[in-house]
Amino acid sequence: SQAEIGLIGLGVMGANLALNIAEKGNRIAVFNRTVETTRKFHADAGELKSRIVPCETIEEFVAAIRPPRPIIIMIKAGESVDQQMEALKPHLASGDIMIDAGNANFRDTMRRFDSLKDTGLTFIGMGVSGGEEGARHGPSIMVGGTEESYARVEEVLTSIAAKYDGEPCVAWLGENGAGHFVKTIHNGIEYADMQMIAEIYGILRDGLRMTAEEIGEVFGTWNRGRLNSYLIEITEKVLKATDPLTGKPMVDMILDKAGQKGTGKWSAIEAQTMGVPATGIEAAVAARSISSMKEERETAEKILGLPSVGEFQVADKAAFITDLENALLAAKIGAYAQGFAVMSAASKEFGWSLPMPTIARIWRAGCIIRSQFLDEITSAFTKAPDAANLIVTPAFAALVKETDGALRRIVSAAVLGGLPVPALASALGYFDSYRRGRGTANVIQAQRDFFGAHGFDRVDGADSHHGPWGSGLNG
Ligand code: NDP
Repeated sequence: SQAEIGLIGLGVMGANLALNIAEKGNRIAVFNRTVETTRKFHADAGELKSRIVPCETIEEFVAAIRPPRPIIIMIKAGESVDQQMEALKPHLASGDIMIDAGNANFRDTMRRFDSLKDTGLTFIGMGVSGGEEGARHGPSIMVGGTEESYARVEEVLTSIAAKYDGEPCVAWLGENGAGHFVKTIHNGIEYADMQMIAEIYGILRDGLRMTAEEIGEVFGTWNRGRLNSYLIEITEKVLKATDPLTGKPMVDMILDKAGQKGTGKWSAIEAQTMGVPATGIEAAVAARSISSMKEERETAEKILGLPSVGEFQVADKAAFITDLENALLAAKIGAYAQGFAVMSAASKEFGWSLPMPTIARIWRAGCIIRSQFLDEITSAFTKAPDAANLIVTPAFAALVKETDGALRRIVSAAVLGGLPVPALASALGYFDSYRRGRGTANVIQAQRDFFGAHGFDRVDGADSHHGPWGSGLNG
């Protein structure tokens, strides 16, 4: 019998996704540019072999799938996807669906979606999160495309998705680029989450002078509390791991230069383009960039020295560590609130009607930012679907009020101690500016009017929009 679905690209993600699909009882045809990889993949598939149809040519591959054919493309993002689509097209028939499951820029997805209009073929842009393990045993899947094309793949995707309390972490989120946009923001939030964890680690390492093992213990304790999440769990594990080469803590042997592939940067760019503050994500992207300037930083340390602040003083270590836990929770709320605000703006901008409670729901399991916290976000958005921001929903307003004091104390201690906490500080700055009804932009408006006659609105509503600055001003 014909395969239910096809998959192109047997790299790390594609191979695991294909095994997951086969394991759930689906018959799947697979193809890879390098034929040897296809042969090896099939040979190693063990008991799943009989459900996998290895194909060595595109013709053979297309013929092996039941029409209308859903074809997952899981290859290197970028131009290779366009090339792969072009290679496929002549062999496809009306109704067939090309599904890009890589980390595409949603603007490329929108272009690809549009390029197939009136061809009878359709396109799905599908964000997949969870890394290798997720792909194999249950990822979180964010789908964008037509609702009809989703109906064709819903059953297979539901079978392979991660489950949270039995609910599958997959959903159709909207037309064209909706799925890849949401995946991008997922990654942006992931950047912020990881950076904030790294900053807290920095305070424990350079402030409290704790060993990696001891810090791992702290994260382990937090993972059993309100911060319970995959990222906190793996942070404990990486901190406690030993380098097989030297016997030292593994993290102490890893160069402090973070890589990035673009999704964090795209999140920040899209947020800026729409005028939505996403300072936590921006701080995290910038922190990765500064991390990569290793030589410059070493030179600067020689020239400027570390801040001359004296010994990092903590009166009550246990209370300080509890403050760190609450500070991380508060900062995390800020980053998620920003991410959801960006999605809410994009939803209007691109006409998607992105379902916020559903997005939080499908992130509860399978993906990298999975956590108990996302269940609370699901519930907050379900109860207050029209809230302007996560932090003004009743549940999160209460949480912010409870934890922002700790964030303030921790950011203050870090700043006074000369330790960099750009993402934690950005969350505090966000709360402090967002909750203040009367800000300071009146001065900016006055300055703009002074040098550029831009005009301003008055607090009393009077019909006078320029200041008494006089004329003949320099531009
Ligand atoms: P790998 O590097 O493991 O595999 C790359 C795959 O792409 C190979 O099958 C390769 O084929 C194929 N490929 C590369 N260039 C072309 C081309 N021009 N034409 C046809 N096929 C090509 O990548 P991953 O599996 O890690 O990633 C795949 C996608 O999934 C990427 O978009 C990535 O961003 C995304 N992703 C990755 C995650 C991860 O944790 N790794 C998580 C979520 C998404 P060949 O064998 O012939 O070289």
